[in-house]
Amino acid sequence: MLILAPTYSSEYRAAAKSAFETALSKVPAYNTWRRYDLGPSADIFERFEAMPVLTKADLREHQFAGFVPEGRDLASALASGEVKLVKTSGSTSDAVTNVWYQKWWDASEASSWKLHVATASAGLGAHREAILSSPRCVGFASDDGYLSMQQRTLEHYLFLTEKDDPVEWSEAFCDRMIDELGRFEPVVLEANPSFLSVLCRNAIKYDRRVYQPAAVTLTYENPSLIHLRHIHRVFQCPAISSYGSTESGYVFMQCEAGRLHQNVEHCHVDFQPLAPRHGGPEIGRILVSTFHNPWRALIRFDMGDLVKLATVPCPCGRHEGLTLDAIEGRIANATISSAGKLITQNEVDSAIAQVEGIEQYELLQSDEATVSVSYVSDTRGPTALEPELCASLRRCYGASVKITPHQIQALSPVLGVKYRLASADFKIDIDDFLAGNA
Ligand SMILES: [Zn+2]
Repeated sequence: MLILAPTYSSEYRAAAKSAFETALSKVPAYNTWRRYDLGPSADIFERFEAMPVLTKADLREHQFAGFVPEGRDLASALASGEVKLVKTSGSTSDAVTNVWYQKWWDASEASSWKLHVATASAGLGAHREAILSSPRCVGFASDDGYLSMQQRTLEHYLFLTEKDDPVEWSEAFCDRMIDELGRFEPVVLEANPSFLSVLCRNAIKYDRRVYQPAAVTLTYENPSLIHLRHIHRVFQCPAISSYGSTESGYVFMQCEAGRLHQNVEHCHVDFQPLAPRHGGPEIGRILVSTFHNPWRALIRFDMGDLVKLATVPCPCGRHEGLTLDAIEGRIANATISSAGKLITQNEVDSAIAQVEGIEQYELLQSDEATVSVSYVSDTRGPTALEPELCASLRRCYGASVKITPHQIQALSPVLGVKYRLASADFKIDIDDFLAGNA
């Protein structure tokens, strides 16, 4: 299989070298990494590849101060408000406290907008933006009662929901969101795709007209083909996947041709392929290193995600850095076939999305021979749907795997934050599946 070799500009190489050498020479968390350095005469990308992997456990161990370069006065910057401390609750492990430098975050976001023609041409910056995600992640949550539109507005952002469980969104509540979109007239609607899918299903069911922004950006979760189907029925504007994290900033953004391009102005990405029998060399994990953040040096941070590389140049013409066909899903959402092959969330999703009438689902693998799927369908009953669902999943997992479907009324996000489309009830160590190890 041919893999597309990425190209990098001389500016990019200089930014990568500067980020790498600053981290190794001045940042306490990387003191023990110096012994692995191939030295200044080696190729900069080979120097990156010779380093260990930075994990969330490392972030907790060194704490936020361990990632600030020596010679920078963090106490003064905190006191003046130039930076602040932000606690994240990771989806797969415990909370980590990060030094948050808003200027860097904004610059990282702005450079990602260049990667799609709709966001590049919309004059973004202080634009009106509506956000539909769990209020436990961003915005304002309210367990009792509702918040007014004014109470959910901050600067140029409107947070559409204060309720973290879409199961509780009534027809009237969805109508309120649709009405507010029309009144606020956002240029961009940023949404968690599973949350937006619930709103879109409601708009389809009750035949509501929905205000059309210049673009919908999808983030927080990797979108399911089923979510995208609902979203494309309601929004005629581009729905663009944006990929990143609190730690890494904006790392990939989907272009108008549907592929994802690396945000080369703000990060370097190391790609580690899986072994061929698990989907390599196209599918692999990514490690992200950030550029230009004076308050936080991140080198080879394991994002916990699998991606699929593009094998041909993108027709949009963008060619610098990595080009992806897809984000394959979180490693925490991977499962295993009866033959021991790693199954990514996207593979499960393609299998389930083929079955007509499924609106939501959650798949759980209790052991390699046993899979259960809870699903929501408004249009088809179990007798018609389940044989198709089982046959489709057996093509993924193997003929001997026991598949038990359950039709349910609705699904809630885990802890009111994110949906979990697939997961295994046993530990999957990705190191066992990487090329060279498996
Ligand atoms: Zn492209």
